[in-house]
Amino acid sequence: MAHQSKFIFVTGGVLSSLGKGLASAAIGTLLECRGLTVTLQKLDPYINVDPGTMNPFQHGEVFVTDDGSETDLDLGHYERFTSAKLGRDNNFTTGKIYHSVITKERRGDYLGGTVQVIPHITDEIKNSILLAADGVDVVIVEIGGTIGDIESLPFLEAIRQFRADVGKDNVVYIHLTLVPYISTAGELKTKPTQHSVKELRSIGIQPDILLCRTDRYLSKEIKKKIGLFCNVGDDAVITAKDVDCIYEVPLVFHKEGLDAKIVELLHIWTRAPRLEPWEKLVETMETPKESVNIAIVGKYVDLTESYKSLNEALIHGGIPNNCKVDLIFVDSEKITGDNCGQMLADADGILVPGGFGSRGIEGKICAARFARENKVPYFGICLGMHIAVTEFARNVAGMENANSTEMDLSTPYPVIYLMLEWFDEKTGSIQKRDVDSDKGGTMRLGAYSCVLKEDTFAHRAYRTDQISERHRHRYEFNNEFRSRLEEKGLVISGTSPNGELVEITELKDHPWFLGCQFHPEFKSRPMSPHPLFRDFIGASFQHKKNR
Ligand code: GLN
Repeated sequence: MAHQSKFIFVTGGVLSSLGKGLASAAIGTLLECRGLTVTLQKLDPYINVDPGTMNPFQHGEVFVTDDGSETDLDLGHYERFTSAKLGRDNNFTTGKIYHSVITKERRGDYLGGTVQVIPHITDEIKNSILLAADGVDVVIVEIGGTIGDIESLPFLEAIRQFRADVGKDNVVYIHLTLVPYISTAGELKTKPTQHSVKELRSIGIQPDILLCRTDRYLSKEIKKKIGLFCNVGDDAVITAKDVDCIYEVPLVFHKEGLDAKIVELLHIWTRAPRLEPWEKLVETMETPKESVNIAIVGKYVDLTESYKSLNEALIHGGIPNNCKVDLIFVDSEKITGDNCGQMLADADGILVPGGFGSRGIEGKICAARFARENKVPYFGICLGMHIAVTEFARNVAGMENANSTEMDLSTPYPVIYLMLEWFDEKTGSIQKRDVDSDKGGTMRLGAYSCVLKEDTFAHRAYRTDQISERHRHRYEFNNEFRSRLEEKGLVISGTSPNGELVEITELKDHPWFLGCQFHPEFKSRPMSPHPLFRDFIGASFQHKKNR
């Protein structure tokens, strides 16, 4: 018989933002530390087919996987907390489910039957869950949204049915709720949890474990009370206490007995979890010797959710440098040539992240110039590389009004432009891009290889000749200007294996100045900080000491 995967469904109650994604990821950590193989999946109730076209202000970051899927930012947590390899089957939305059902209906697959939410949509959801399983021991499935939402009902119905399909001992339902401390009453309140579980039970799901988000540990009495009202054992009521450092979440859950309870309910025999690496990590992160200020010059500055992986990667970069990384978000629309020095005065390093559209672009160019001229470490990611190249073209190579055609279609020096044809290593064929094609359809997405030039910042960081990194962009470095920019001192330290696509640019005679066409932040892990982030933070710290 094929290997029977076990399934954990994580739902959320009371309100959003309780950290369901982190909780799911932390469960993955604990099970991996027990020697099990895991994967994680997110089911999102919204109707967009994927978050690729969604505004980061509303939805937060779009996380890109190796296979080029544009996914929910929770997949970023999953990858940072576990070694699971995620891709298109790890994130489904209502839109993607319906799209597939409607496609089948048009093709005549339902043989004239009436297509309905139950069973057709719910079957499609259940099949999607099975797609993710792929032989692993445990699949952790997070349902987006909050219990009580209309949108998530088909997903909840599907996971309700799922237990009957695969057997009682193979499924655990975990519900995350809030247990607020009300200071006027001086006590923790359990009513929101009771109501949320009541709602869940009304649609036929009895949670097996409750994760109670709270600011203090729940006493035995409170756990007993919650257990009684919600029909779970008091050892299945787990305190999900607020923590300062997200990587502490698995440790808190473990102390509360969560992983022991899960394996008991799933009838899996495992060794005790080996949590030393996580304990050590948290200890290092909580006792940094030094600190460094990094200015993130961007557009989505008021919402840190839109740069989730970036923020984490910067924090990871601090770990090997024993440095706490303090982030200063600087709104690029407010930067001008005159106030730039003042606005970036506290920055030990400057980072221009990915972005779309022309808003705030001139401020970013000022920031890159400031970094170049004042020898402040600079890290440009995707759009941030475009900015660095544009700045260099304008102010070093004398190409007045040089620009990316994303910002200015009539620039005399389109140093960054839409490459209409290129060789795609993924498909082994020539890819064509057309200016008018669908939004989202023409991006270079996912993992691509890049060969590195020796004796460059990039090669010194990666310590290898070839790397693979994830992309999400349309515009590319324009080879027409390559030799002219190189003659003026721009270093091209990374290209696609056939040399056609410029992937990394650098400056000489600078402590650390690098722009990359890809998004290295997606591949940084707390246990293995990304080499570019490590070296950028290292250089920034050095800069701080020298100031
Ligand atoms: N807007 C730029 C492009 O489409 C950069 C994208 C990004 O930074 N991810 O190429």
